[in-house]
Amino acid sequence: MLRQFAQQPTRRSFLSLSTYKREGPPIAPYLSVKQLISLPETRLTRALSAEWKADPEAAMTRLFEGLPCAPSLAQAQRVTPFMGMMEYPNLHRSVSKPGLALVGDAALSIDPLWGIGCGWALQSAEWLAGSVGRAWMSPTDLDRGLSAYAKRHRSELADHRFLIENFSTGRPFNVIERLTFSAAARDPVCADAFAAFGSRFIGVGRFLRPDALARALWVNARHALSAAKI
Ligand SMILES: Cc1cc2nc3c(=O)[nH]c(=O)nc-3n(C[C@H](O)[C@H](O)[C@H](O)COP(=O)(O)OP(=O)(O)OC[C@H]3O[C@@H](n4cnc5c(N)ncnc54)[C@H](O)[C@@H]3O)c2cc1C
Repeated sequence: MLRQFAQQPTRRSFLSLSTYKREGPPIAPYLSVKQLISLPETRLTRALSAEWKADPEAAMTRLFEGLPCAPSLAQAQRVTPFMGMMEYPNLHRSVSKPGLALVGDAALSIDPLWGIGCGWALQSAEWLAGSVGRAWMSPTDLDRGLSAYAKRHRSELADHRFLIENFSTGRPFNVIERLTFSAAARDPVCADAFAAFGSRFIGVGRFLRPDALARALWVNARHALSAAKI
């Protein structure tokens, strides 16, 4: 189903989110709900026009029930109301000013499609604590620490942010994405690199290193050749 979605341009302009809990194995509608609502624009428009606006919860439940192997929401208890949003803009602010620092979404809140916000909230708090932990008693040291935090925040997240914001316009995958993503599905080394990149353990520069791109090319060429032989 995700492959089917991936073949069409998408526009992430309607988000719906609610939280469920249940006994036993964890249920993960948070991720699923978000992915499902990244619908292709034509379907989105149709869906929004009547069904979704009238009753987002019923529409979401129906959509969820149609998924292959989806966990049963009937066994879950909803613990927050459904919220629908027509626009979910990418937001970023200057992460520090003299005497002030922002972490998490306050600093950077972007397209949740990639599931990065909670990790970045925790990490940015850690970077801030690491930068100012011993300096907060002296205003000069504090401001130096805050500048160091801003620098770290930028160096860790700016390139990821660029790509995520760029993709959130609804454009289809570009050549590099098609190359690296398809290689990840065909080769364990490329898969590991993709997992590290997707989990934000490595930056864009490392993910797109020339040797990594060369391997992705080789993997896809090998796949194309073997497919041609068959
Ligand atoms: C639909 C959707 C799906 C997402 N999916 C994922 C995902 O799969 N994985 C992931 O990692 N992230 C995901 N995110 C992003 C993630 O939820 C956020 O990045 C993360 O919660 C940010 O944490 P935070 O602590 O910075 O901010 P928040 O979680 O927003 O916490 C801020 C808190 O401050 C409170 N507050 C605000 N103003 C005041 C005030 N004046 N006084 C007192 N309290 C106040 C708010 O009520 C809130 O509880 C998703 C977001 C959305 C919208």
